[in-house]
Amino acid sequence: MFETVIGLEVHVQLNTKTKLFCSCPTSFAEYQNSNTCPTCLALPGALPVVNKEAAIKAMRLGYAINATVNHSSNFDRKSYFYPDSPSAYQITQLHKAIVQKGEIFIDLKDGTQKRIGMTQAHLEADAGKNIHEGNYSKVDLNRAGTPLLEIVSEPDMRSADEAVAYLKKLHSTVRYLDISDANMQEGSFRCDVNVSIRPKGQKEFGTRVEIKNINSFKFVASAIAYEVQRQSEAYEDGVYDQEVFQETRLFDVDKGVTKSMRGKEEAADYRYFPDPDLRPLVVTDEMIAEAKKMPELPDAKVKRYIEELKLKRYDALVICQTKESAYFFEEMLKSGASAKASVNWLNTELLGRLNKAGYNITNSPVSASKLGELVSKIDDGTINGKGAKDILDVLMEEDKDIDELIESMGLAQVSDDGAILEIIDSILANNQDKVEQYKAGKDKLFGFFVGQTMKASKGSANPQKVNELLRDRLS
Ligand code: ADP
Ligand code: MG
Ligand code: ZN
Repeated sequence: MFETVIGLEVHVQLNTKTKLFCSCPTSFAEYQNSNTCPTCLALPGALPVVNKEAAIKAMRLGYAINATVNHSSNFDRKSYFYPDSPSAYQITQLHKAIVQKGEIFIDLKDGTQKRIGMTQAHLEADAGKNIHEGNYSKVDLNRAGTPLLEIVSEPDMRSADEAVAYLKKLHSTVRYLDISDANMQEGSFRCDVNVSIRPKGQKEFGTRVEIKNINSFKFVASAIAYEVQRQSEAYEDGVYDQEVFQETRLFDVDKGVTKSMRGKEEAADYRYFPDPDLRPLVVTDEMIAEAKKMPELPDAKVKRYIEELKLKRYDALVICQTKESAYFFEEMLKSGASAKASVNWLNTELLGRLNKAGYNITNSPVSASKLGELVSKIDDGTINGKGAKDILDVLMEEDKDIDELIESMGLAQVSDDGAILEIIDSILANNQDKVEQYKAGKDKLFGFFVGQTMKASKGSANPQKVNELLRDRLS
């Protein structure tokens, strides 16, 4: 009876070497306040200079999402007082952002795609950190002035699933582009969720609340679910106007509820005005050329995997979801493995084992070329699937030569007709009764003969060959 409307604001910390307006390093795991200078401490007289690398990285996102990249954009001051911001304002881009009007396509569970509009992506400086300890509060300004790209979506999402799909796509895109490490736990990819509801069929949007700073996909889904229920109940109880108003809420991870934090400020509260210390950010041809240098992106990869490698759409999506798994897959192909078998051996066999052993694809003890080599041995009939699984178990523990393992574990597959026929004939001779029954129409017994032959060969017979030869003998 209600429709959910969601718009997202994502803060991505750009992985530049230096801060947005000064030459301090962006590594903030350093000694407190050591990565600071007169500019990021906002001492009088210090002037900001825009970081070209940050601008190029913002532009690169713009080109990747079909957006307009403005060749001239402006910086504004957003005033607010808080100890982690020594200037008492944040430098951001309100009126004319460097990137405007883009789009991202998400894949829905029913197999269709949906376009989510991107309002803008603007550059802004991050604040420092307040650390509260007992009776004291400390301020660490190492992070102050670090470049953020705030990516604002249109209110185009209609469910928590869509919001999570959008976030995952954006997360993977910035990682493919290598403009941010997008580590959610460390806060380099954080998300504000705007949620409202409206009765189905109503044109106007309902009142939105903004839930600040959620740092996991799971929490985004839970926060939306809670908010939708709270707002729907208020509507049904006739208290929507009293209980749902523009405000900023926080998600309480332990209780799974959102809580009011403060009333929503209006733009006027921030006394935005153009920063008089900064000239317009004008991009050069050289910056444009640099920004347009980008890797193959997930959408293009998925398309290519389907068309050229004949993968199923679902499989292509799973592999391309992170650049690490796509690159792993492509390395496997380079060592001669077939695409179809690689999908299964990567997604099921390897990932299953990595998960269990507490690894992930970036620190896998089995390299992509090694797994590719193993898969190519199945492809060409040297070993069968069962043997390959045994070898993979060993490789998880220790990096060894695959040919030597095949030899020492006795896994070389017998594809030679003569050797297999010998086994088949003895099985058939010892099971005369079953052969009669089979010939009389009991088709199911075929599996029994295959099983017996495989067993007698200790799993080394090529199953395809066994099937062929058995059919031949029994016809
Ligand atoms: P602010 O900076 O005050 O949060 P913005 O206009 O920059 O406001 O951001 C608004 C965000 O809220 C955008 O992502 C937008 O898509 C979303 N939004 C706007 N109206 C609604 C609504 N009625 N319901 C849900 N989301 C909304
Ligand atoms: Mg906001
Ligand atoms: Zn500095």
